[in-house]
Order: sequence, then C-alpha cells, then structure tokens
Amino acid sequence: MTLADRLPIEIYSRPVYRKCECCGRVQDIYFHMVVRDAASGKLLIGSFDLCASCGKELALITDQAIDREEAPTPAPKMTQTIRTFDVGGAAQNGGDTTNL
Ligand SMILES: [Zn+2]
Repeated sequence: MTLADRLPIEIYSRPVYRKCECCGRVQDIYFHMVVRDAASGKLLIGSFDLCASCGKELALITDQAIDREEAPTPAPKMTQTIRTFDVGGAAQNGGDTTNL
C-alpha cells in the first residue's frame, strides 16, 4: 500500500476560506488530505485541510497526481448583481429616464 493510498488528497469542488492546517495561513483551502491507519490503510485517523501550495507539495511528497492540473477556480466573489426591472414604458425609450 502506497503513501497515496494512506494519505489520499481530495479536491474541494469549491474552495473554502479557512486556516490551512499545514502552513497555518488563512486563505482559500483547495485540498483535503485524509489520514488512514498504518495497519490496514482503511480506517480513518483524521484529515487536514490544505491550501493550494501545501496541497500541491503534499501531493508531490506522497507521489500522487491531483486530478486537476491547475488549482480549481477561485470562489465566486461576494458581489451581487442588482437586477433592475423596467416598469412601464421606460424600456421603449431604451431605459432613458431623463425625459419622463
Ligand atoms: Zn498551507
């Protein structure tokens, strides 16, 4: 059983903003490394949340390919598009409200 079997690294579908449990920096967390027991390699011991650089480093150390070559797309920004709805005839003027 290889290191990659005992310390498999999984990728979050969307990054989570929290503390990396390897380097201690608070940033986007892309990877989750599972720790399985040494005897069987099947029982769960614990896990680490890892930032992009720590995850890539640990993937190299444990000799496993991370599914995606590049880091997953960053989390969507917390901006919201405010949609405006045309009321009445404003749309017929191309939305121009100066000549009401
Ligand atoms: Zn880190």
